[in-house]
Amino acid sequence: LVELEGVNKHFGDLHVLRDIDLTVRKGEVLVVIGPSGSGKSTLCRAINRLETIDEGEIRIDGKPLPEEGKALAKLRADVGMVFQAFNLFAHRTVLDNVTLGPRKVRRAGKKEAEAEALQLLDRVGVRNQASKLPAQLSGGQQQRVAIARSLAMHPKVMLFDEPTSALDPEMINEVLDAMVALAKEGMTMVVVTHEMGFARKAADRVVFMADGQIVEEATPEEFFTAPKSERAKDFLSKIL
Ligand code: ATP
Ligand code: MG
Repeated sequence: LVELEGVNKHFGDLHVLRDIDLTVRKGEVLVVIGPSGSGKSTLCRAINRLETIDEGEIRIDGKPLPEEGKALAKLRADVGMVFQAFNLFAHRTVLDNVTLGPRKVRRAGKKEAEAEALQLLDRVGVRNQASKLPAQLSGGQQQRVAIARSLAMHPKVMLFDEPTSALDPEMINEVLDAMVALAKEGMTMVVVTHEMGFARKAADRVVFMADGQIVEEATPEEFFTAPKSERAKDFLSKIL
């Protein structure tokens, strides 16, 4: 569903993505881990075309990423993204946050969009917050609204970039639980996270990145019990 082939990206002198070849199959959950600065966020952003790449190709459903216009808006709907910061519209209610995209991009009617939004909010356990403003919610609740908002666009794949790293510990699990449920329903997901519990429970495959390269690719079982590379061993010894 998502294919990266020979992807290279520089920020000035910094070579942030080096010859990345990666395929994510439909329904697969891929967890990306690696030290700070290894290029994980840049990789996610490139798949959503929030960053351009210098070399190589990224395809969704066999088609190269569009560069602009309507096709790009469609891509952003097809490739949902949830960031560390929740990025909700502060002056809009939770319900508006979830319905704005479908109404604007998919031209969904108000009633239809609201009915679906309530279902999605229910799915992530925050339906009773629908009429509040984001600031009136806890971080974990806001992040679940952000997930519902992406899902409202009917994405083909969801990218999560450290979705729980800005949350207080007691809120991490409610967000991870919503993600595990999504994975079980068959959503294709790319998840940057250091939450090993999530990786073990939900990941089909783990990719370890360092210095812009994919150093290791393995099942979570293999990776956490017997990492092959020194870099992965070193990294795991610091976070586990
Ligand atoms: P973290 O775990 O800290 O989130 P990361 O693996 O997500 O790290 P990236 O954010 O992808 O890393 O950054 C990779 C490298 O590119 C870093 O050295 C970073 O400083 C650099 N970088 C990222 N964005 C830009 C930018 N817009 N301009 C210049 N350099 C950038
Ligand atoms: Mg990052």
